[in-house]
Amino acid sequence: MADAPRKPSLEDLAEELNQIDRPAADGRTCGACTECCTALIVDELKKPEWFKCLHLGKYGCRIYSKRPESCKVYYCMWMAGVGGRELRPDRLGIIFSGVTSPKLGPHILVHEIRPGAMEQAEVKKIISALTETQVVFAIGKDSMRRVLGGPSHLIAEIFRSGAAPITLNGEEVTPDVAIERLLTKARP
Ligand code: SF4
Ligand code: SF4
Repeated sequence: MADAPRKPSLEDLAEELNQIDRPAADGRTCGACTECCTALIVDELKKPEWFKCLHLGKYGCRIYSKRPESCKVYYCMWMAGVGGRELRPDRLGIIFSGVTSPKLGPHILVHEIRPGAMEQAEVKKIISALTETQVVFAIGKDSMRRVLGGPSHLIAEIFRSGAAPITLNGEEVTPDVAIERLLTKARP
C-alpha cells in the first residue's frame, strides 16, 4: 500500500534544495524527475535495475547529502544537454546514459521507462545520431543488453570480447554470425 501523502519536513526541503544545485547543461535540473532512482543499478546499495530505491521519497532522495558515490557522479544525457529541455526523461519515457566500463569501454544505455516510448520519433532521432559514434544498448526489463546500433567495428569488438549477450532483432546469435551480419549491413 502506498504511503499516505504528508507535508515535506524541513529535512525534505533541505534535501530538495541540494538537488537544485546539480550542475547541468543550460541550467537544467532534475526537477520532479526521479526516474534514474528506479531504473538504474546502484552498486553500493545492491539496488538492481528497475527497482525503486528504498531511499526515494515523495520529495526526492531522502539521503541526498549522504547518497552513494555512484548517485553523486551520475547524470543522464538529458542533463548534459541531449534532447530539448522539454524531453526530460520522465516526460520522454526514456533515460539515455553515457557510461564507460572496463569490459565495454564507452557506450550508451537506453532505459525505456514507459512502454512504447522507444517508438517516438524524437527518440529514434536521438538514437540514430548517437549510434553514429557509439554503441547503443537497450536495457530490457530482464536486464539484458540488446544492441540498437553503433559503428560496426566497435560492436564487433564488444562481441568478440564476450562482454555482452548478443541479441540481434530479438534473435540470439553467435559472435561470428553477429559480426558477419553487422559488417554486411555496414558495407556499401
Ligand atoms: S533521469 Fe536524469 S533528469 Fe531524471 S532524475 Fe535522473 S539525472 Fe535527473
Ligand atoms: S540513494 Fe538517493 S539518489 Fe541514490 S538512487 Fe536512492 S534515492 Fe536516488
